[in-house]
Amino acid sequence: MAADLLDRSALTLRDDVAVGRVSAVEVCQACLARAQAANVALNGFNLIAAERALARAEQIDRQRAAGEPLGPLAGVPIALKDNLSVRGMRTTASSRILEGYVPPYDATVVRRLEDAGAVILGKTNCDEFAMGSSNENSAFGPVRNPWALDRTPGGSSGGSAAAVAARCVPIALGSDTGGSVRQPGAFCGVVGLKPTYGRVSRYGLLAFASSLDQIGPLTRTAADAALVLSVIAGADPADATTSREPVPDFGAALTGEVTGLRIGVPRAFVGADPPSGAGAVTTGLDEGVRRAFEQALGDLERAGASVVEIALPHAQYAIPVYYLVATAEASSNLARYDGVKYGYRSTGTKDQNLQTMYSRTRDEGFGAEVKRRIMLGTYVLSAGYYDAFYLKAQQVRTLLRRDYDRAFEHVDVVAMPTSPTPAFRLGEKTDDPLQMYLADVFTVSAPLAGLPAISVPCGFSDGLPVGLQLTGRLFDESTLLRTADAYERLTNWHTQAPPLPPH
Ligand code: GLN
Repeated sequence: MAADLLDRSALTLRDDVAVGRVSAVEVCQACLARAQAANVALNGFNLIAAERALARAEQIDRQRAAGEPLGPLAGVPIALKDNLSVRGMRTTASSRILEGYVPPYDATVVRRLEDAGAVILGKTNCDEFAMGSSNENSAFGPVRNPWALDRTPGGSSGGSAAAVAARCVPIALGSDTGGSVRQPGAFCGVVGLKPTYGRVSRYGLLAFASSLDQIGPLTRTAADAALVLSVIAGADPADATTSREPVPDFGAALTGEVTGLRIGVPRAFVGADPPSGAGAVTTGLDEGVRRAFEQALGDLERAGASVVEIALPHAQYAIPVYYLVATAEASSNLARYDGVKYGYRSTGTKDQNLQTMYSRTRDEGFGAEVKRRIMLGTYVLSAGYYDAFYLKAQQVRTLLRRDYDRAFEHVDVVAMPTSPTPAFRLGEKTDDPLQMYLADVFTVSAPLAGLPAISVPCGFSDGLPVGLQLTGRLFDESTLLRTADAYERLTNWHTQAPPLPPH
């Protein structure tokens, strides 16, 4: 019973709770037990808020008993990446510098989820301030991939992806700046959606790179991603970067139809080995990933879609552009952690003055990768280098966006593998930041262009999950979700579960 409960989608669970087939408390208890058991091996949670979750679940059951209307996520457990603020719940961004920080307010997404009846189970481990591709840059230690414990779950939303894959929760939220929802989704065999820039409020998200950050769901089905997006999307007076674009019923878009859908594949970029221009990067595409990707395109073609070749001539520069823009913005955003207003403060020594307090706090509070990015970002923004690096990166960013504009004149979605390789080994890239950055080669261009993108499980390479990434037009998450859902109806990759701890 409990094991079967844990396999159910959020849609099924909320229907089951609504008709009384199962109580919200039973669902919550099953998820808590699984989360606690799985956490020993996976380290996916920074915090499991059992008491709070059970109290919320009891409240949902009381509402149902009283015949009160229930929200679209009533009784559905959810895990939140630990860079999302929940009032009264420790929030760390997996950084020592936020030690002891308890937010006095809720992120807008948290408010909307709880208003919809979702039950927050806890906070998930991630790379410190969402900077990383392997979840190894965490003050709480790495997360392990449920498919292979010696592998990374991806990053930076590694804990959220691992928790959904290991059936601790049906749904989780992550944040995606350069791939942090989609790449861990691919590595753990779950769906990850990065909405259009401006689609979802970032109020209460601990900022990394503000022109790129978006919050998105990790789920086991495209239908659940549609459900979560419908709840969290929409304008928010507390976040001026949110769009007034109407929010469609994303669930209603899931027709199962892909007939006539035009899928663009940037073949020269996906297979680029060796790189084609000065400053270009090699994608290092794994053979098993390539095979799964081609097979997925074939499946969609047989279902009535057409696959056409497109060019994204500037995509080969997306990695350098991303790591200039993101570090510049990070260096500015992270200036606020000075030991005065939040979290950790160095206790210092007798000679401590304000300046040494700042620098000791930041030296002791930030991890190595965050420091590297603050230094890189400060450098690229400094007088004399701004034009050569930051400004140039912004210009190439515009060119990349135009590549997509041009492509979308002919196609409805752009397909690429989510990551050039399946999950790599823990420790494999930690000594070589450049290799780590290159793992993001296929994910960074969508956020640079502001576009929505989804990763959906599309097979395995050497027993490890592979993700198919689809990028869409601005605010056209519906087409991405429809395509991903239709693909799930053609295949059963999304139903595969990793070996699970006994329950
Ligand atoms: N891996 C990328 C980075 O390290 C993306 C991170 C993210 O999307 N938050 O910056």
